[in-house]
Amino acid sequence: MPQSAPVATPPAQLAIFTDFDGTLVELAETPDSIDVPDTLAEQLGQTARELNLAFAVLTGREIADIDRFLAPLVLPVAGAHGTQRRRADGVLEAIDPDSLEGAERVAEALGPLIAAYPELILETKRGAVAVHFRQAPELEATVHEAMQRAIEINDHFVLVPGKMVCEARPRGVSKGEALRAFMLEEPFVGRTPVFIGDDVTDEDAFIAAQDLGGVGIKLGDGDTAARMRIADVGSVRALLQGLGDIAAREQELVVTERETIEPEQELAH
Ligand SMILES: [Mg+2]
Repeated sequence: MPQSAPVATPPAQLAIFTDFDGTLVELAETPDSIDVPDTLAEQLGQTARELNLAFAVLTGREIADIDRFLAPLVLPVAGAHGTQRRRADGVLEAIDPDSLEGAERVAEALGPLIAAYPELILETKRGAVAVHFRQAPELEATVHEAMQRAIEINDHFVLVPGKMVCEARPRGVSKGEALRAFMLEEPFVGRTPVFIGDDVTDEDAFIAAQDLGGVGIKLGDGDTAARMRIADVGSVRALLQGLGDIAAREQELVVTERETIEPEQELAH
């Protein structure tokens, strides 16, 4: 019985997006005390190159923070949950002035709370505000109530709870919207998005990646819209290394197939 020839299909080209804290690095007592391994920037740079630079970080932190931790590597980044965005071509998008001004007012309104509880950490960002309570978990409800009052100043902000943190971010802004924006641009457009994250604020991006035909990968336990899970930070870094390697190998494979198939086709005619 004649066997049909295998049909060569182009490999899926991935666009990989990852959260930072709790996904690429372990969480720490305070946002500034995270341990960033010396090898992280080099490894992520290699992964980015193997993905033809279709690799971006979607974080609650400011873009400047990520640049500081990964120097000299400069990646496409959505910061402050998408309030800030630097595209793959290096262009930094302007931050909405209402978000900038609104975040300052929310931070001001939280002054009395921070003064009353020194164990809380106020993180003011361009366009967003976070209060970290990892050093005083019993204050969770107090923090939520105070932040709810602070955002009632106007209708521009919503509260987003995270791991030992409560965030105020502009309405309509999210990691999911940031992922969708990247996917309209080179070198992401036309690729299959993968997003890896560990927290509640990553859910929008899991959904966005899956809406666009890709996959969300949730690190650790907890309810999630992500279709896949991964165990820990070490596994994420190993996966990124592996995915990058596969992308590079598949590019080589395509070249090899073209070189070998074309002469056969010429002979057949
Ligand atoms: Mg995280």
